[in-house]
Amino acid sequence: MSRKFSDTSLLFATHNHGKLVEMRDLLRDRGIDVVSAAEKSLPEPQETESSFVGNARIKAHAAAKATGLVALADDSGLCVDALHGAPGVYTADWAEGPDGRDFDRAMTRTHGELIEAGAKEPWSAEFVSVLVLAWPDGHDEVFEGNVTGRLVWPTRGQHGHGYDPMFVPDGASITFAEMSGVEKNKISHRSRALSALIDACFT
Ligand code: IMP
Repeated sequence: MSRKFSDTSLLFATHNHGKLVEMRDLLRDRGIDVVSAAEKSLPEPQETESSFVGNARIKAHAAAKATGLVALADDSGLCVDALHGAPGVYTADWAEGPDGRDFDRAMTRTHGELIEAGAKEPWSAEFVSVLVLAWPDGHDEVFEGNVTGRLVWPTRGQHGHGYDPMFVPDGASITFAEMSGVEKNKISHRSRALSALIDACFT
């Protein structure tokens, strides 16, 4: 039996604006107001684990402990089959450069590694989201969502965030970045993980 959450405001342990916009859209209909760790000026903890769940736990528990509030964290990434699951937990790191995070750089690297590996198209890949809901007493609940698809080059679309312009989900012919937020939220890894969390903890 999962622990229940019945508040109308939820602390989202993220400094990623794209994730925050999606989570706000996903929870608006349930009347839940989402406040981010960035808005509360909380520091970003180091993600030192080698799994999505490990890093999501670090973020959720750090925020819950710092504020005394129930905190939600997402750790997510892109796993490319021909790259043996890379970038995986290092998805955000592939965007790092001397001038900060740049996802054009990250997508160019991903494409370059596929070419270097001699990978034949279609380049199958999966987005993974692990959500951890953590309470200040140390309890947590964990949920995972996935969406499979393929990578395309050149990138297409202006919406969304991160690697959205190079990812076409199965069953679609356009990238996440060519979809509206509403369309992406119907099928995304994050919305699937959140549905599982809502079923278990919000009812
Ligand atoms: P982290 O969870 O903060 O370690 O970062 C995960 C990274 O994965 C993000 O910075 C994005 O680059 C990427 N990512 C996660 N979810 C999505 C998505 O829905 N679209 C595009 N990129 C994503």
